[in-house]
Amino acid sequence: MSNPTLSRIESNLESLKLYRTRDQLSSILEEAGKENPSYADFLDTVLLAERVVKAEKQHAMYTAMAKMPFVKTLESFDFGFQPSIDKKIIKELASCMFVERAENILLLGPPGTGKTHLAVALGMKAITQKHRTFFISAASLVSALNKAYSENRLEEKIKQICMPRVLIIDEIGYVPIDPHGAHLLFQVISRRYEKGSIIITSNRGFGQWGEIFGDPIIATAILDRLLHHSTVINIKGESYRVKEKMRAGLIRKRDEEEP
Ligand code: ADP
Ligand code: MG
Repeated sequence: MSNPTLSRIESNLESLKLYRTRDQLSSILEEAGKENPSYADFLDTVLLAERVVKAEKQHAMYTAMAKMPFVKTLESFDFGFQPSIDKKIIKELASCMFVERAENILLLGPPGTGKTHLAVALGMKAITQKHRTFFISAASLVSALNKAYSENRLEEKIKQICMPRVLIIDEIGYVPIDPHGAHLLFQVISRRYEKGSIIITSNRGFGQWGEIFGDPIIATAILDRLLHHSTVINIKGESYRVKEKMRAGLIRKRDEEEP
């Protein structure tokens, strides 16, 4: 093939952003020369490889943008340790239909029972299905909203927070939220209502949300929006962290302690 043709192919691949094919053009052509595939097979192989590379890049980009605190999967979750969780429900959620339907997930339970693990793992499933996902702690979200409010750019911040298809708000209830913060949070939640999914983790039951927000009316309004289309996972069990420590011999079970 003449050099001008090769250069033109390269420049067309570049402008079509088919970088994998551009970078490996000579070896792709050399292999095709040897193997002699049909025109259709050749085109199919080239396009498929390009799609795989693009999908991997997008997955890596979405994972970085999600700002997860750690990478955890459903496959690494020990359901045997937490029998109060219905594995079937989690499997159904892993299909990400909840994202398509803009439904919410609320994971409730004591510390160490795997709420954040499950939230991250479901977020990773959403990323695999090409849904943009963003993880933030409730405290950081409220402080970012407060900052934006004081800098007169609240609307811009809310828009940015509402952009991803899945928003994970972690640890509602660990730190009290003042009524103004609660009002800002309410704006995010009502803006996403029936438009984008929210996954929330909390160590407090719904009855205590009035205390968290220092205002039972705003707590009710937030819960009303969150719960309308939602799955609630109520974890009643032991802390996995404590189990790990016990196994390592760092702490002992109460009944093993001296009388
Ligand atoms: P929570 O958010 O409920 O406080 P985490 O999800 O942060 O708890 O879990 C604490 C640690 O224990 C994490 O490292 C998590 O991966 C692990 N963990 C919790 N539950 C399980 C489980 N059932 N199987 C495997 N790892 C678990
Ligand atoms: Mg947590």
